[in-house]
Order: sequence, then structure tokens, then C-alpha cells
Amino acid sequence: MHPHVERILLTKEEIAVVVDRLGKTITKDYADKNLLVVGVLTGGTIFAADLIRSIDLDCELDFVGVSSYGNTAQSGDLTWTKPLSLSPKGKDVLVIEDILDTGRTLSCLTAYLQEAGANSVKLCVMLDKPECRIADITADYVGHSVGNEFIVGYGLDYAQQYHNLPYIGVLKPEQYQ
Ligand code: 5GP
Ligand code: MG
Repeated sequence: MHPHVERILLTKEEIAVVVDRLGKTITKDYADKNLLVVGVLTGGTIFAADLIRSIDLDCELDFVGVSSYGNTAQSGDLTWTKPLSLSPKGKDVLVIEDILDTGRTLSCLTAYLQEAGANSVKLCVMLDKPECRIADITADYVGHSVGNEFIVGYGLDYAQQYHNLPYIGVLKPEQYQ
């Protein structure tokens, strides 16, 4: 275990079980849909890469780089570092993100995708931190719920580090205080 990690929440093997479960459900739900998977950079890349391989359907894949500012859930509150490359028009968009925290980013992104003509927009997150929610949003597919702790690994970083840990763990508070 990395010396900055206090404890492991999900091992590599437990993550694989979660990804398999989500992939099977999504495969069933999107059987007759026009699926466009949109991963959110950077934290969502590792989860998105694993998850699409457990979705047994034809689908398109794109990535967006976004973060939100402001306190509303308006699509105009987004700062873009990488726009969509594919059109969401008429597609059933499944957004893949590492963690749903305040919900600001994903509620702004959902509004943007709806305005851009997506047929449907659903959210799949590896982790959900419901205690921290500010925006009125719930994820359609959740891997695992966590409390109000700072999580790293499996795509989740602190100061650009720990993205590559193969497990999901809690960062020792002394590393960020
Ligand atoms: P929000 O839901 O607050 O708009 O933003 C979620 C984003 O905040 C996530 O994509 C992630 O980048 C970051 N974030 C929220 N909670 C955590 C956490 O516990 N650990 C890490 N590494 N990032 C987090
Ligand atoms: Mg993120």
C-alpha cells in the first residue's frame, strides 16, 4: 500500500466485481439504444476504460474536460479544457465520472448535453459522496457510496498524484492539511 494511504476502501479485485455488475446492468438498459459513452477527464478515464469493456453493446466513446464554477446548475458555468469531439445529438449519452461530490460539475454537464440535443443523459459514477451534495442530482449507476473523506486511486488524484493506484483508498489527512 502507498505510504500516504490510510486505508483501502476497494481492492483491485473488488473494483473488478463492481465494474462487471455495472457493465451487465448498462448492457441490459441500453440494449435498444444509441449509446454514446462520455468519460470525464482526467479522473474518469480509468473507470471509463474498464467499464466500456464490460458493456456488451455497440457504442461510441468520447471524453470531455470540464469543471464548473459558480453556484448554479447552468451549462454556461462550465470551464472546458476539452470539448466533445462527437455530436451528442439524438444519442443516449452515458457520462462516466470518478466521483459525484457536490454534483456541480455533472449537473452543469447534463444541462449542456440536453441543450446539445442528446436523446437521454444518464450518469454512472464509481463513487458517490451523498453527504457533500449541493446540486439537485443523483447518479443513475453507482459503484460504491463513500463518506466525507478524501479518496485517491483508480483515477482519483490529489495534486495530480495517485491516479495510478490500482485500488481506491482514503488519503491520510496529513497529506493535504
Ligand atoms: P463536484 O461533484 O463537486 O462538482 O466535483 C466532483 C469532482 O471533484 C470529481 O470529479 C473529482 O475530480 C473531485 N473530487 C470530489 N471529491 C473527491 C475526492 O474525495 N477525492 C478526489 N481525488 N477528488 C474528488
Ligand atoms: Mg473529476
